[in-house]
Amino acid sequence: MTTIALKNVWKIYEGPVLAVKDLTVTIEHGEFFALLGPSGCGKSSTMRMIAGLEEISKGEIWFDQTLVNKLEPPERNVAMVFETYALYPYLSVYENIAFPLRIRGMRRDEIDRKVRWAADFLGISDLLPMSVKGLSGGQMQSVGIGRAIVREPSILIMDEPISHLEARVRARMREELVKLHDQLGTTTVYVTHDQVEAMTMADRIAVMNLGVLQQVGTPKEVYEHPQTEFVGGFIGEPPMNFADCELKREDGTLYACSDSFKVPLPAETAGKLDAQHEKARVRLGIRPESIGVESAPSQDSVRASVYVLEPQGERTILSARLANGELFLVEVPPDFDAQPDDAVFLRFRQPIHLFDVESGINLI
Ligand code: ADP
Ligand code: MG
Repeated sequence: MTTIALKNVWKIYEGPVLAVKDLTVTIEHGEFFALLGPSGCGKSSTMRMIAGLEEISKGEIWFDQTLVNKLEPPERNVAMVFETYALYPYLSVYENIAFPLRIRGMRRDEIDRKVRWAADFLGISDLLPMSVKGLSGGQMQSVGIGRAIVREPSILIMDEPISHLEARVRARMREELVKLHDQLGTTTVYVTHDQVEAMTMADRIAVMNLGVLQQVGTPKEVYEHPQTEFVGGFIGEPPMNFADCELKREDGTLYACSDSFKVPLPAETAGKLDAQHEKARVRLGIRPESIGVESAPSQDSVRASVYVLEPQGERTILSARLANGELFLVEVPPDFDAQPDDAVFLRFRQPIHLFDVESGINLI
């Protein structure tokens, strides 16, 4: 098990293309760590620098007490699993898994023992004699994982390993991968653009956007305390609602006012804002489950009308149209019943997030 420390790491491709900007993050030994962000945000570049497949433009990468910047990939003992399986199509499953051991010149009986161990571990022993050509996507990725773990690497990197699989197989693979990590305890970095994957699988998540690290935290932390508007909007499904607001103080109470609503903010929130932010324009963010629906108007409720109801089984998502025409998503119970254009009265509950309009930073 290895601790990976990235210190002020940059990746600038020819062009120049700034792919990773001043990234500092520590992945603890034995951790299941997810690197999450939209396509093109610099996830693969970061992984390739850790694995030694891409030069580091600036900064340092440490594995425990060792600076690895100049180490060749084989010296780093990092195994990678990619979205494309990169298996050898003319070799059997057995030979594909054995491959990294054969090129190391390992003894035949030792190879046999390890290949059988990895296959057994992944539940693919039956497949060993088969050609990889006839396998399903999920089976092929299991072989790819077998080939990665058979070396007993100190770090396992998986770059979108299941993104392309069909939903049902993906759900099963998620569980398998978590189990795999629990049993092996290998420091694992899991790259994904799918926030559900990161939220359900990882011990901690680093969220990136446009080459810049936004936040590192447990799934609960990034969900409950997004440090930027980007994290608030990227994590959670259905996504957080946003509205441009102005802060106004009246009779000692601070209100967030838009052209559709005027909602009071708790004294605790007001206390956390610097004086300069009072009266400023802010972006209000509120999750669909933090909004209640009432059928009659009352103090501080927000008038809206029903636009669409989307039943999702254990919950229904109400799309409500505010006075200015903006739509807010609201989570309502499955038995919620209403017709389009019916009036509804929304109650904004805590947590209400406030973000800086320019920097996107959470002000609270
Ligand atoms: P992700 O894995 O998050 O989708 P990447 O790390 O692959 O992101 O890419 C980050 C940025 O760097 C993108 O703008 C991409 O186009 C660019 N990029 C990636 N690889 C290269 C390369 N070899 N040469 C030039 N630009 C690249
Ligand atoms: Mg990528």
